[in-house]
Amino acid sequence: MTPRFQAPRGTRDLLPGDLGRWQWAEAQARGVLERYGYGEIRTPLFEDFELFARTSGESSDVVQKEMYRFKDLGDRDLALRPEFTAGVMRAYLERGLGGRTRIHRLWSAGPVFRYGRPQKGRYRQFSQINCELVGSPAPGADVEMITLFVDLYEAWGFRDLTVVLNSVGQPASRRAYGERLRAWLAPAHERLSADSQQRLVVNPLRVLDTKDPGDLALFHELGDVPRMLDAIDEADRAHWEAVLAGLDAVGIRYEVDHGLVRGLDYYTRTAFEVHDRSLGAQSALGGGGRYDGLIAELGGPPTPGVGFAIGLDRAMLVLEERGTAAPVPPAGIYLAAMEATHAAALALARELRRQLVVELDVEARGFGAQMKAAGKSGARLLVILGEEEWKRGEVVVKDLASGTQETLARPGLAEVLGARLAQAPPPTGGGAKGTEKP
Ligand code: AMP
Repeated sequence: MTPRFQAPRGTRDLLPGDLGRWQWAEAQARGVLERYGYGEIRTPLFEDFELFARTSGESSDVVQKEMYRFKDLGDRDLALRPEFTAGVMRAYLERGLGGRTRIHRLWSAGPVFRYGRPQKGRYRQFSQINCELVGSPAPGADVEMITLFVDLYEAWGFRDLTVVLNSVGQPASRRAYGERLRAWLAPAHERLSADSQQRLVVNPLRVLDTKDPGDLALFHELGDVPRMLDAIDEADRAHWEAVLAGLDAVGIRYEVDHGLVRGLDYYTRTAFEVHDRSLGAQSALGGGGRYDGLIAELGGPPTPGVGFAIGLDRAMLVLEERGTAAPVPPAGIYLAAMEATHAAALALARELRRQLVVELDVEARGFGAQMKAAGKSGARLLVILGEEEWKRGEVVVKDLASGTQETLARPGLAEVLGARLAQAPPPTGGGAKGTEKP
């Protein structure tokens, strides 16, 4: 039967079985971020549309085609966030963070929304981890960001990542570079895709972002793509070289990619990404860069910043495809009761659950059904509240991994069970049987 309602196109349900890996990854990331001294910031899922339009740049796909824009009942022009940076910078200004200390290290995680064409690794709701280092123009800030970026992937077991880097200069050098690109493409202008022709008018750099095979073949045919790095000024070049030297010192592997231009308009100087080719067309795992003009663009005092966003969905896809095992949840207890001890079992379960993983039959079914459920539950220990034993202040505990059985006293039960669960299971089938039968 086809269900009447389906998840909206481009969205997914993550079920308990999927989420083990996600939660583990999020916990690892949180650890890395805390050790780097980043503080978490949570901003609204939606903001004024205008905020995103200003920060992403009118020419970006995000603004042109991908925004979930809506009017609320008060006729406000709003949009679901298509990325984090705009909202974080809005909060930075609105809450006066800049007046407290000069440098802020901030991170966020959660869903973002873009109305793209869904495919493998591309969804309309997806999750990002986002980091910002606001307040420092120094190349050391870029180096810290890129190092943190790589260390997050490493904490998830990624190895030998190569970061691709470029400098996108400053607005002035970008304009000059844009002219060079236009001149370079002029002889083939008519053969460019409609999208690229339009980009050439609004923001020529973004032509290099094209995925159109015809455009790419044309670039190849024209040869000698003008390089942004040849167009940047002396100060930008010094910054660029200092970033590379810093990365060398830290031991981060990188490659210069002259075609790397980030999709959003307010990047300055350093731009970086990391890719995993196993993902196919949607290979970007994450990316970021410096955005020294952004805060001023929002009406704040000129304040430099650098940041990145990591796409969690794609990182999780790679881990899954590589067979990186999801972490095993902690072993637990199945609490089985007789009719006469069911009420006591409910109270005992509540008590044990303050420390331990406990399952019990909420339907108070017969003992046989409970034994079957215990077998399926994945619990390590079966704790049986037999009527006679319970009256004596005891329970029978069976290790389902080894089959060994013992009788334990009610007082201090949680501690003893906790200790049993912490021990490695004894070899299957072996070991002395307990003296009491259930
Ligand atoms: P961006 O801000 O576009 O560089 O996005 C940062 C990261 O988010 C990308 O490198 C991807 O890993 C991820 N990402 C971007 N768009 C999507 C999408 N539609 N679905 C899933 N992940 C995405």
